[in-house]
Parts: sequence; structure tokens; C-alpha cells
Amino acid sequence: MVDRIESLRAEASAAISAAPDRAALEELRVRFLGRRSELTGILRGISELEPSERGPVGAAANAARTALEDELAARREALDAAEIERALEGEAIDVTLPGTPPVAPGHLHVLTRTRREIEDVFVGLGYRVLEGPEIEHDFYNFTALNHPPGHPARMLQDSFYIDSTTLPAGVLNERGLPPGPQDVLLRTHTSPMQVRAMEAQEPPIFIVVPGTVYRRDTIDATHLPMFNQVEGLAVGEGISLTDLAGTLDHAAKALFGPERRTRLKPDYFPFTEPSVQVDVSCFACDGSGRLANGERDPLCKGTGWIEILGAGMVDPNVFGFVGGEYDPETTQGFAFGMGIERIAMLKHGIPDLRLFFENDVRFLEQFS
Ligand SMILES: [Zn+2]
Repeated sequence: MVDRIESLRAEASAAISAAPDRAALEELRVRFLGRRSELTGILRGISELEPSERGPVGAAANAARTALEDELAARREALDAAEIERALEGEAIDVTLPGTPPVAPGHLHVLTRTRREIEDVFVGLGYRVLEGPEIEHDFYNFTALNHPPGHPARMLQDSFYIDSTTLPAGVLNERGLPPGPQDVLLRTHTSPMQVRAMEAQEPPIFIVVPGTVYRRDTIDATHLPMFNQVEGLAVGEGISLTDLAGTLDHAAKALFGPERRTRLKPDYFPFTEPSVQVDVSCFACDGSGRLANGERDPLCKGTGWIEILGAGMVDPNVFGFVGGEYDPETTQGFAFGMGIERIAMLKHGIPDLRLFFENDVRFLEQFS
């Protein structure tokens, strides 16, 4: 009888420790300790046993019952703890993890990035970044930049004039008079800030002026009525054409790579004298004009050089319009202007100006 109790106890013990959940545990309790269980039957029948067996059987059966009740309680506790653990894991939120945005975060437009790259080059040389008005007086856009009224150079830049009757009351032209029909326009270049900056500050002056400019133009792969420029102006004692060449050579190397070379060619702008076109050695053919397969390089049209900007020594007449500390007899400086779209197109091999403004994500996301 005692052996049977021990084997029942061992069987129950193994089943309890393997029980997967509370329901299984309850079944085991009924089976081994319930009213109809074998162990309960043994305990009930003790009084019918031989007197010599009653003591050992009763002790073994009671010990087995107590031990199994303890084991059931312990297993129940362990199962409950595991269940709580699982629930916590399932609901866990790690607040230290970064969020998952529904769309990838954006990035700067390729033109903004190019503008900032150009600014950084000149800020590194000690230049300040200034911005100016996009609606400009004819005086600053043309007259003070050595385009007197009737000058044929005005025809080079076909302008958008502002209807003077739509201007707010109190706006006056540079002569202190109500503006006439051709006194206010969308600036055709960023150069008006040359004169505005010199009026506001004595020499020396080193500035770059990024901004949007407007010209009446056709719309095609290389022309738009709105585009962006960066103007540059350096005025100070003894500034010469050599400084212009060195500064723009540094800028070209910073923008297009340290192995680039630059050259100056004579050009014409009304507000610089002499005026130059700055070319950079072609980065597609390294200046040879030929591609690796021997064909003529279409980027530089076989010349080995690419025009990147216009520049020149500030015309003394411009200093004459500023006056003050800017004595045309003794003041010297240089100015330059470059198209931001043109620099970006050359840097990234972009074939069509319109791509910058169509906001096609497939185009824009290439420049992240
Ligand atoms: Zn080339």
C-alpha cells in the first residue's frame, strides 16, 4: 500500500511540473486529490486496514497529499507569473525608440544645397552673405550699374516692370518722386545689391548676395523667366584683377574639385571694366575635349573648357553713383555673378533647367 502511494505521488508530481496552464493543473488536482481520486480512497479506507498497517499508510498518504497540494500551489504561482510576464512583453512600448514616420524625412532642394555650398566657399574667405529686394528700383538695377537711361545694354535684359499704380502709396523713386511706369521692376540680376551694400557700408567690403532674379524669357531646357544667382563684390585697398583670378580659381576648385584649372577670357558687362568670362577646365574630359572612347566631349563641346561665371573689375562709374568713401579715382574692387542653376546642372549632370521647378520627387530624391 505504501509503495502504491509513493508511485501515485511520483506520477502526480511529474504531471504537475509539466502542466502547461491553469486548466491542466485543475484537471490534475481533481484526478489525484479529488473526492473520487485513488489517494482520497486510500485515506477513507484506513480504518478498515489491519491495525499494524494503519499508522504507516496513513502517514504516507497524508504526506503525499500535503506534498502534492504544495506542488500544485507552487506550479499555479509559476504559471501565473509567466502569464503576467507574457502580457507585459506583448504590450511593451519602448519610449526610447525613434518613431517610425509614415514617409521618409525630406531633405534640402538641390538648388538650396548648391546655393549653400557656394556661400560656404566665400564665407570661408571672409565674405558676408547679404540678401536684397526682388522688387527693385530701376536706379539700382540699371542706372547705378552704369546702364544710363536709353543705354543699349538695358535691352540685353528684358525686364518685368511693375505697374506703378499698383504700388503702395508713399513708395518713391530714387529722386524722391512718385515712381513712373518704368521706375520699379523685378530685379533682372542680384547686382543691385552691389550699390545698396556700398551705400550702407564703407570699404573694405566683401559680400556674396544669393537670390532669385527675373527676366522675360522663353521657357526651354536652358531658359526660364525666373532663376537664381549669386553676386559677389570685393572692394578694398589695392584689390586687383589678380585677386579676382585667385579668388575665383579657389572657388572653382572648391565647387568642382581640386584638380580643376581656370582661365579668364575677355567679356563685356556694363558695370565692370575690364570684364571677363571665367572658364573651368572640363571635368568630364579633364580638359582634353575628348572622351575616353575618343569621341568629342558634348559637355564642353570639345573645347576642354566650361564657362561658369562672369566677372570683372568694378567700373569707376559705379563708385561714382555710390559716392562717399567710394572715390572713383582711388577705389578698386572686383565683382562676379554666377547662376546657381548652372552650377548645379554642371555639378550633377542635370540636362534641363525645368527639372528644378517641376517638383518631381523622382528627380528631387536623387539629391538627398
Ligand atoms: Zn570636356
